[in-house]
Amino acid sequence: MSVRDLLKTKKRIVVKVGSSSLIHGETGRPDLDRIEKLVRVLADIRNQDKDIVLVSSGAIAVGKSALGYKELHSLQEKQAFAAIGQSKLIMLYQRLFAEYGQTAAQVLMTKNTMTDNVNRYNARNTFNELFLLKAIPIVNENDTVTTYEIEFGDNDTLSALVAALIDADLLILLSDIEGLYSDDPRRNPDARFISYVENLDDHLMAMAKDTTGSSVGTGGMATKLQAARIASAAGCDMIIAKSDDFHVIRDIMEGGDIGTYFKADKKEEFFLLDFISMLGRT
Ligand code: GLU
Repeated sequence: MSVRDLLKTKKRIVVKVGSSSLIHGETGRPDLDRIEKLVRVLADIRNQDKDIVLVSSGAIAVGKSALGYKELHSLQEKQAFAAIGQSKLIMLYQRLFAEYGQTAAQVLMTKNTMTDNVNRYNARNTFNELFLLKAIPIVNENDTVTTYEIEFGDNDTLSALVAALIDADLLILLSDIEGLYSDDPRRNPDARFISYVENLDDHLMAMAKDTTGSSVGTGGMATKLQAARIASAAGCDMIIAKSDDFHVIRDIMEGGDIGTYFKADKKEEFFLLDFISMLGRT
């Protein structure tokens, strides 16, 4: 049995999709074809009685394009764009999930949701209730009210913290990065692809380079490895893969040799707050 066969047994999965995979780069408008496919694949996982959470970016980009803006000028604009774009995105998700007989649920979080004990406890209870109701939580940072002091800043980190919060057993990070290389493949032709990571040691962390080619979204390899560190310590396996076609989610869950697989290495003393303070922004 290959180590990837374990992926078939996963029961609670968090899928994070970056802005660049959800919108048209040229116009910033939602890529309906891709979003529809994403929803169908996730609805089908729900049909297999697995709990599924979607961490979706795109609020700011969609809001910006809806208003015909190309650039961001101020924090206030970013927050206003997020308010408009987030509701547009959720409207779309809700409609598409309903077509497949599923119910979507919006969960917006700030860093306070994780650091404050009462908030964190409530958020965990809400997720559990949503799973009992067989709803599909769609999570994003609450960009409308967050400022630098209380933001996660990127959805890679947010999705790992959500995975830890809800005791997920698999986190899939999808973006324009196909996985971990021993060096930046755009600069070094000898860079090796790493398909399996058993131990996320300091040497691997040092390999983190900002390899994202996208101009939207915020996550590069560094935030992905940070996410892997959190997920692994919390006992959650993680995969980084490229999201050219969202069918890849299904292939991953069937044990396909896709992307980089970070094996969980659960730390008995794992405590979410320790990791949040390590993010360096509290
Ligand atoms: N929360 C941001 C948004 O929805 C995206 C953050 C990220 O891409 O990491 O626009």
